[in-house]
Amino acid sequence: MRVVLIAENDDPAAWRRALAGRVEGLELLAWEDCDEPQTVDAALVWQPPPGALARLPALKLIQNLGMGVDALFAPGVLPDFEVPLARLVDRDLIGQMSEYVCWAVLHYHRRIEPYRQQQRRRVWRQLPATDAGACPVAVLGLGEIGADCAAKLAALGFPVRGWSRSPRRIGGVRCYHAEQGLRDCVAGSRVLVCLLPLTAATAGLIDAELLAALAPGGCVVNVARGAHVVDRDLLAALDDGRLERAVLDVFDDEPLPPDSRYWTHPKVLVTPHIAGLTRPETAAAQVAENLCRVASGQAARHLIDLQRGY
Ligand code: NAP
Repeated sequence: MRVVLIAENDDPAAWRRALAGRVEGLELLAWEDCDEPQTVDAALVWQPPPGALARLPALKLIQNLGMGVDALFAPGVLPDFEVPLARLVDRDLIGQMSEYVCWAVLHYHRRIEPYRQQQRRRVWRQLPATDAGACPVAVLGLGEIGADCAAKLAALGFPVRGWSRSPRRIGGVRCYHAEQGLRDCVAGSRVLVCLLPLTAATAGLIDAELLAALAPGGCVVNVARGAHVVDRDLLAALDDGRLERAVLDVFDDEPLPPDSRYWTHPKVLVTPHIAGLTRPETAAAQVAENLCRVASGQAARHLIDLQRGY
C-alpha cells in the first residue's frame, strides 16, 4: 500500500516507526519524495496545501492527523473526486485537551494570576476562598473532547452546562442543544469553554451578544479554533472590565502575528495551539486500522460528514 504524508511539521520517520509492522506492505512516502502520485492509495494529512490532494487520483482514503478538519474545507484543498475523509479520535489527545481546559478553568477560578501579580510585588495577602460550586462553566460542543472536559470539570465540583447541535446526555452535566439552547447554556456562566468544530454555523459565534450573557468578571477559554471568536468583541469585553480573563490556544491567524494585541494584553493568556498535539506513537494504531480497513475494502472509521462539515 502506497501512502503519502502531507503534513508540514510531521516527521515521516516518526510515522514510519509508529506504523511499522501494523500495515502489510506499507510504503510511507514524504510528500516531497512522492514520485508517481497516480499510484498513491492513501494520504495522511494535516493542513495540506491547496491542489496537493487533487494530484492523487487513485486515493481511497484521506486520513486527517488531527481531530479538527476545518482546514480541509479551505478552497482547493479537497479534490473534486469523491474520497472518504476520516479524522483521528485519539484518547491521548482528548486527555491532553481536558488537562488544558481543567488547568485554564482552575487557573482562573483559584485566582492564580492575581497571586502571580502579588508575588511580583512580594505581597503576602490571602484573597477570599473560592467555591467551585458557585462557578458555572458552559462548554460549547459536547463531542469527543467537549464531553470528556465537561465530565472532568463536573468531577471537580463545577456546575457544568453543555451545548451541542443534537440532544446529549452526560452524567452531572446540564445539556442544552440547538440555537435556542445556546443563550440558556451560557447565561450567568462564569466560564465559557469553546470546543466546537469550525463550520459555517459556528464561525463568529462568540460575539459581543454571547459574551454579554456571561456573568460579570467571567472568563473565556478557547481551544477550538480562533475564528469562533469575534476578536474585537472579546478585546472590548476584556478592556471594559466585563470579562476578567481569556485563555486562548487558537487564533484566526496562526502563528499569532507579532502586532496582535493578544500578546501583550494583561488579561490574556496565549499558548501556541498546543492544547492537544497528535503523537504518532498513540495515534498510529488508529491510522493503521483505517489503512487496513480501506485496503480490505471496508469503510474507514471516524468518517467526516461533508454536509455537516465535521
Ligand atoms: P466532535 O466530536 O466533532 O464534536 C463536536 C461537538 O460540537 C458536538 O457535540 C456537536 O454537536 C457540536 N456542534 C457542532 N456544530 C454545532 C452547532 N452548529 N451548534 C451546536 N453544537 C454544534 O469534535 P471534537 O473531537 O470534540 O473536537 C472539537 C474541536 O476541537 C475540533 O473541531 C478542533 O477544532 C478542536 N481541537 C483543538 C485542538 C487544540 O490543540 N487546540 C486539538 C484538537 C481539537 P452534536 O453532538 O450534536 O454533533
